[in-house]
Amino acid sequence: MLQKKLIVSVISLLMLISLMPRAAEASGEERFGGAGRYETANIISKAGWKTGAKEVVLARGDDFADALSSTPFAAKINGPILLTTGDSLKGSTAQELKRLNASKVWIVGGTNAISDKVASQLRNMNLKVERLAGKDRIRTSVAIANKLGSSHGTAIVVNRDQFPDAIAIAPYAAQKKIPIILSDRNELNSYNSNFLKKVNKTYLIGGDAVLSNSLLKKVRNGERVAGGNRHVTSVRIAEKFFSGSSRPFIATGEKFADGLTGSVLAAKRNQPILLVKQNSVDNTVKRFIKNNNVKNYTVLGGNQAVDSSIGLKLHAPQFDRNSEWLMLVNKKKHLSSSYVPKNLTIPNVRFPFSGYDQKKNLRSVPAKALENMFAAAKRDGSTLYAQSGYRSYQRQKTLFDYYKRQYGEAAANRFSARPGQSEHQTGLAMDVTSASVGYDLVESFGETKEGKWVKNNAWKYGFIVRYPKGAESITGYQYEPWHLRYIGVEHAKYITENHLTLEEYLE
Ligand SMILES: [Zn+2]
Repeated sequence: MLQKKLIVSVISLLMLISLMPRAAEASGEERFGGAGRYETANIISKAGWKTGAKEVVLARGDDFADALSSTPFAAKINGPILLTTGDSLKGSTAQELKRLNASKVWIVGGTNAISDKVASQLRNMNLKVERLAGKDRIRTSVAIANKLGSSHGTAIVVNRDQFPDAIAIAPYAAQKKIPIILSDRNELNSYNSNFLKKVNKTYLIGGDAVLSNSLLKKVRNGERVAGGNRHVTSVRIAEKFFSGSSRPFIATGEKFADGLTGSVLAAKRNQPILLVKQNSVDNTVKRFIKNNNVKNYTVLGGNQAVDSSIGLKLHAPQFDRNSEWLMLVNKKKHLSSSYVPKNLTIPNVRFPFSGYDQKKNLRSVPAKALENMFAAAKRDGSTLYAQSGYRSYQRQKTLFDYYKRQYGEAAANRFSARPGQSEHQTGLAMDVTSASVGYDLVESFGETKEGKWVKNNAWKYGFIVRYPKGAESITGYQYEPWHLRYIGVEHAKYITENHLTLEEYLE
């Protein structure tokens, strides 16, 4: 039996490779993403300014210092923000300027940011060139603010050294043509304070760590918009200024360029930008998606910025990583030798053996769920048996040592767990089987009537088939159609419907 298992595992591994990538794109996704930030900017420009633009903002692609304030100005001239390197105009950017049939380019920043060589290249293309620049980034932000016009009732303040809050507020600032003024965390200087004296309402974006409470007292009619981190701050902005948004933009909060160039288009479409990590979504962002019934969304950037699995993750249930039901135990995450789960109890279900055995136990919540699941299976004509639930650290040690002696350590590690690495120690896992496979724990259980019932229905009771076929490189274990793990109905439903593993879901 063991050799057969090993052969099947090799086949499973080959299947996995052929099935990559496993996560599918959600149907409501629109993505503006190129091979890098410069291409992405051009793609956004093509999408937002299909028939061209007379004036364009040009920012440096590898340094956000001057560019953070430029979105409201781009909105004022109704032009896209394109990107360049500091010393030479990108060929693809020049092409996009031609397609736009632009006549004027506003360069953001001084010659130290974008060189005069770039300005000459633009003039040689018959473009008028003007700079939006001050002697430093704060003065550049004030210079741009003054270009926006003189009658500002409101100003927005962001930290001079942090881009995420500026990106998140940019669509709103652009829409209302509100200047974005840069500041140190604690102090205004004469340049930004002189400007801020002229307004009667000031929004500070971000928490005390980026703009201090003492700064808040120094501005006129100050109001802070902030969450606990950049992702939550982007949601707070969306809730405050874009309530009812049903088609938000999604951008990475790790790099500035895609959000910057996408922010003008987001403003045109009256949508916020929600910030995510490449591969994960904050619970607060998921809650916004759920509360606003978001089906469609626009991703800024390629897969290297925002992964193709983001649609699944945006719509995934919110979860608490510290939840006892979502405990992750595998070959990388171990339980201590002293870990004993709470509330162990023996579920009232069929076992293929009689008498007391520790392995009959489960924690009380999954035990009740297992009883309900077995009863439902029985009603559908499938009689299930519980073979092995809770195993203590010591018991797993004895078991693993036995397999190691019998088959060698490498083989044992494929189908058994070292002590501390077994889900059975959590009291949340039960191996189930049927008479049709002689009550064994074998792959062929997956092909039986009972095994198919389990695969299709276990989620309704909060269980998942923890080690699915073809996922050995992710879970660390070969296919085990018999090993069920309790995680709760909402999570089990999502994981089952989207063919995920617990590792992919949680990490
Ligand atoms: Zn098991």
